[in-house]
Amino acid sequence: MTAVPNSAGFHRTASGALHCEGVALSAIADAAGTPVYVYSAAAIEERYRRLAAALPPSALIAYAVKANPNLAVVATLARLGAGADVVSGGELARARRASVPANRIVFSGVGKTVGELERALTEGILQLNVESEPELHMLSAVATRLGRTAPIALRVNPDVSAGTHTKISTGRAEDKFGIPAAQAKDAARLAASLPGLSLQGLAVHIGSQLTQLEPMERAFASLGSLAQALRAEGHAIRTIDLGGGLGVPYEPGQPAPPSPEAYGAMVERVSAGWGARLIFEPGRFLVAEAGVLVASTILVKQGQDRVFVVVDAAMNDLMRPTLYGAYHGIEPLEAKPGRMVVDVVGPACESGDTFAKAREIGAVGPGDRVALMTAGAYGASLASTYNSRPLVAEVLVRGRDWRVVANRVQPEAMMELEAIPDWG
Ligand SMILES: *Cc1c(COP(=O)(O)O)cnc(C)c1O
Repeated sequence: MTAVPNSAGFHRTASGALHCEGVALSAIADAAGTPVYVYSAAAIEERYRRLAAALPPSALIAYAVKANPNLAVVATLARLGAGADVVSGGELARARRASVPANRIVFSGVGKTVGELERALTEGILQLNVESEPELHMLSAVATRLGRTAPIALRVNPDVSAGTHTKISTGRAEDKFGIPAAQAKDAARLAASLPGLSLQGLAVHIGSQLTQLEPMERAFASLGSLAQALRAEGHAIRTIDLGGGLGVPYEPGQPAPPSPEAYGAMVERVSAGWGARLIFEPGRFLVAEAGVLVASTILVKQGQDRVFVVVDAAMNDLMRPTLYGAYHGIEPLEAKPGRMVVDVVGPACESGDTFAKAREIGAVGPGDRVALMTAGAYGASLASTYNSRPLVAEVLVRGRDWRVVANRVQPEAMMELEAIPDWG
């Protein structure tokens, strides 16, 4: 049995067959078809327990649902005591359906609608992370109308560059997220003066796939100073939400991201003396390595000067490579002798529909299947039906058992939702 790089819960048996826990991925592909996402429940649980052990026992780990919103995934984490960080009414509904208690749910986002604010208040969630003064006014009006008090934290933009891809950086002054640190005191005064709001905390989230502790530590330290300054003005800061963002290894040979233990030690150092309950919003760390996307090779095509392996997964199933230039390891499900240098591409009509360029992979031919590794986060959650392709299916494995946890949605089902007007 050999481990597979940058994955958790996946290994090769002595015969060379790639497994998720006790199940051969080829058996899943045979039964469920491809493309299909496969997640390891044991790996998700191991990630959660490891992170929880590295953080203070009183901390709330609110899983960022957008990383992988599948109900079975959210429920797996909820059973271990995880809360949820949601950014839409749809994610709030998912978290509740997956039995996350309302008092462990945090609602973030720069543009919550009146309907979403109403829903959050009616559910009685733990905290709304407010990102602007106009949102304070909106929320105050909604809470007053419903006769409720909204528990809020101010999400602060610390103007820290997290050193990550610009599309997943959220804590620079130019990013749309949070209240500029210089406006935070005014926002707190406004919150205290408006009816229906109860300011209880501060929040920060500077970006995703963070591979260095130093920018996080700077952001956390400035949030701690702000908490003291706000307390000095009479505000009760009881919760401090340090967001998510902890990175995972995708590409062999790249520097390893900080371990959860190193992250936890940094948090302990910076938060000593804060006297507040800590909240964390990890997404990617909990699920990325616990998932793969299994695809079948449709054909191998010789181009002018490169070889294209055309698989039946496309950018609509896994958008990260085209969106962020992201790297995903590519492993044949059955190890065959030989290696080849190829471009691995999908069938969609976009040149960006490329999973790997000039990549050396284990030999595959038509009909052979491959796993795109480290695809458990921001994979299925970013999937679409572009090119009228089916919406990708998802499977959860537990030991020797597995279940389809999201059925493939066929174009026929999508067309049921459309209509041709009778005006001719
Ligand atoms: C996306 C997001 C997260 C999760 O980020 P990861 O990098 O997946 O850990 C946490 N908090 C907020 C507010 C987010 O937008």
